Amino acid sequence: MTDRFAQVALPLPLPDPYTYRIPVSLADRALPGARVVVPVRRQEWIGMVTAVDVPAPAMTARDILATPDAGTVLPPTLLDLAGQMVRYYGAPVGMVLRAMLPAALWGHSTLALHVRDAGRQRVGGTAEQLLDWLAARGGSASVAAAAKAFRRPVWDVVDRLQRVGALDVEIIPPDTDAATATTRVAQIEGTPLSLLERDQRFGRAPKQRSVYQALEERGGRAPVRELLDAVGAGPGPLRSLQAAGLVTIVDLESPRDPFGGAVVPASPVVLTADQQAALDALAALPRGEAALLFGVTGSGKTQVYLERIKVALADGRGAIVLVPEISLTPQTVGRVRAMFPDQVAVLHSALSDGERADAWRALRRGDRRIAVGARSAVFAPVKELGIIVIDEEHETSYKNSETPRYHAREVAAMRARLEGASLILGTATPSLETWTRTARAGRVVRLPHRVAARPLPPVEVLDLRQEPQVVGVGGLPWTQRLDDAITATLGAGNQVLLLLNRRGWAAYVQCTACGTVLECPNCSISLTVHRHPDRMRCHYCDYQADVPQTCGACGGVTTRAVGAGTQQLERLVAERFAGARVARMDLDTTGSKWSHHRILERVERGEVDVLLGTQMIAKGIDFPNVTLVGVVDADTSLHLPDFRSAERTFQLVAQVAGRAGRGPKGGRVLVQTRQPDHPALVFAAQHDAEAFLAVETELRRAPAYPPHIALVHLVLTGADNLAVTQRAAALADWCERIITRSGLPLIVVGPAPCPIERIKDRWRVHLILKGSPQALGRWIRTAAARLALPRGGVRISIDRDPVSLM
Ligand code: ADP
Ligand code: ZN
Repeated sequence: MTDRFAQVALPLPLPDPYTYRIPVSLADRALPGARVVVPVRRQEWIGMVTAVDVPAPAMTARDILATPDAGTVLPPTLLDLAGQMVRYYGAPVGMVLRAMLPAALWGHSTLALHVRDAGRQRVGGTAEQLLDWLAARGGSASVAAAAKAFRRPVWDVVDRLQRVGALDVEIIPPDTDAATATTRVAQIEGTPLSLLERDQRFGRAPKQRSVYQALEERGGRAPVRELLDAVGAGPGPLRSLQAAGLVTIVDLESPRDPFGGAVVPASPVVLTADQQAALDALAALPRGEAALLFGVTGSGKTQVYLERIKVALADGRGAIVLVPEISLTPQTVGRVRAMFPDQVAVLHSALSDGERADAWRALRRGDRRIAVGARSAVFAPVKELGIIVIDEEHETSYKNSETPRYHAREVAAMRARLEGASLILGTATPSLETWTRTARAGRVVRLPHRVAARPLPPVEVLDLRQEPQVVGVGGLPWTQRLDDAITATLGAGNQVLLLLNRRGWAAYVQCTACGTVLECPNCSISLTVHRHPDRMRCHYCDYQADVPQTCGACGGVTTRAVGAGTQQLERLVAERFAGARVARMDLDTTGSKWSHHRILERVERGEVDVLLGTQMIAKGIDFPNVTLVGVVDADTSLHLPDFRSAERTFQLVAQVAGRAGRGPKGGRVLVQTRQPDHPALVFAAQHDAEAFLAVETELRRAPAYPPHIALVHLVLTGADNLAVTQRAAALADWCERIITRSGLPLIVVGPAPCPIERIKDRWRVHLILKGSPQALGRWIRTAAARLALPRGGVRISIDRDPVSLM
């Protein structure tokens, strides 16, 4: 009988799968889509069969060792989807498959060394040292630990010792079940202290203040370990807080699935005429096609998705609902579960690996018909997929920031075509790409009004160059009108939302004498000032340093902090509106699981008067008592060196404006800017997304940018700037040659240093390829495999359809 061979993809950045021999005993189980255990050098890895009956390799193939599952893990359609993604994005198939499956289904083995007494006398040198080292550890340790201790690979030594019988090597197979342990959690007792109470209590105890503050910023509850790490404190301050009765500490058993709570059945909703018309249009969409559900904020898009899913389920088909990671809260999921009890599986990064794998298996078996999740839920193994919904389709979080750099919207479109499903893209502020595609195909479905005839809130644009400002508020732009509006809103017992898209205390410090700005030593970016604890921090690599007292360049003593951030805003609001309960929401206050959600719960319960924060507060908030939204500085993102900066600004301002006036009390929006005539702000103020799209589409014609052409962003990085620059020049030449030889209609822009020239001590140079999707696709299929492996310390990332060129 002749040998049979299989191609096995490994979750590694290898350009091609490896070929293994299929032992006769495994022939019926080693099928495409099945997980297999294979030897890779000295380890066992879990891989996935991508093809069988492939030609025998030139060198002797090793055997597949085992097939851990009874059936295939990945259904054929998802394997096809992986193939399409490999061709579209130029990513290695193993990396694509790794992104598709929950982490718990992958893994590699650990190798353990055990000393045997026999043969001890016959060794010397490093081998002797290794045996001594192992003996000091009770006779056993992992190979990795030994290699680390000896600061070199120890395989040669292990080999020798094994041959003389002094050592055993044990293969501990990959773990497929992630365990959850108990965690010590600190939580604030009662209502958090006000800033003033804090000043009184912690005047002499800054560490206690930092710990308390960090805890509050995490929604009042956080794991002890993480909390102390974040502040850089020992256990002392926390103990003092506990003794003072301000904080309690509890041991939490493995955290309960936060999405698993009791279902409150939905009270039936009668669709409005607009909603019914939208539903009818979406139900008539041909299979495999995409439509835009273009509805203003609060127009009831969610209700339309849910009704459309009901139609699919009645047809015996399943559904995927994608929401931005930040909106994936128990409330959001609750709305879906209320309508479809027992049908929903949630895929969320904050679940444990084991929980996610369970949800995945429930979908695969068909026990659940609806998957709800963030970006990666586009790969949910829903059976008989009938519909994919992408809520807030313009969100950049749908783009994966590592290999494979896929966009969930693009992948969803591929998947919908493969499986004959409908794709619904919902938003009030469409991306230019989606708008152009769906408008051209005549597939735009509109919801032009808010439900219950609620008006969109009036937006006033305040010109910071002319409006009277409140003096003595530090570096923040602060007009009298915004100040008055906040006073009035709080006086009426309503809630305020304040957006400032810059976290920390201040964007940078600058010497007033020589103008020098303090930068991160690893990244070409200024260090941000943070308070409590007082540190300079890099937002790219988290490098930290003390806040300087003098300028490092000229020795001058007068430095100033420029570009006020959310921490300063919090301070200002607490001082000016005494008694107001303030909560801040940004990356620094939402480090732990669910902290973001806990802050929102406090707002919902009316325990917060002013919620301030970065772009996070612009998303998915539907609180009827929010009657004032203030955009403190609309210009923060207007001038980034990126072709999408106007689009982003428009989306941000329009979305945050949409948080106001969702209840019967109505609401208003104030936007502070130095550029009141910028189209992004003018049209956001008019809630006129279509006019903005029209203007912006024209601006992108020359020089050409999406949606008129497509892009591939090639970023080269390395520790040696010269090597990176030279490689980039060579790559540009090579691209030009391919283009000339094959006659591809592509343009190469660059090479040039990236706007952020260095991150984490790696220099960054980029090239941009512009052209039609077809031409870019052909270029990727020619070039990707050759660029997959780093050469001379230079790595190349291929980013098709980039969301940022920074
Ligand atoms: P969007 O997703 O478009 O921003 P939502 O779906 O969140 O809007 O709806 C906004 C609000 O209107 C929600 O509180 C929702 O419960 C309510 N709503 C939606 N449809 C209806 C309807 N047909 N009748 C009454 N209330 C509705
Ligand atoms: Zn840095």
